[in-house]
Formats: sequence, C-alpha cells, structure tokens
Amino acid sequence: MTENTPRCLVCQETSQEIPLLKLEYQEQEYYICPQHFPILIHQPQKLVGLLPGAEKLQGHEH
Ligand SMILES: [Zn+2]
Repeated sequence: MTENTPRCLVCQETSQEIPLLKLEYQEQEYYICPQHFPILIHQPQKLVGLLPGAEKLQGHEH
C-alpha cells in the first residue's frame, strides 16, 4: 500500500506543512516544494533516484 498524501519528492514534506507544486511527468504525478523546485530547473540530475526518468532532464545551461 502506498499512501496518497502528496509529499515533496526531495524532502518528503507534506502539503500540511508546506505549499507543494504539482508536477506531471511521464503520466505520473509528483509534488515538489518551492524550496526544492529550483533543483528541478537547474540541477535535475540531483533528482536521479528520486524522480524516475530524471536522468533524461537537461539542466538549465548558464
Ligand atoms: Zn522539498
């Protein structure tokens, strides 16, 4: 059984504790908090192992 409580995929905080942004990726839904959202933009490789398929994401080039 997996619980359905939305949690930040990085820090596991729930929407009871912090506002969560909902993501859709590969027909799955994920949640991430504003604190960790920049990681998705700039350092998605850090999400490998947390977000399935994250290794396909390209970080923003500076
Ligand atoms: Zn977080």
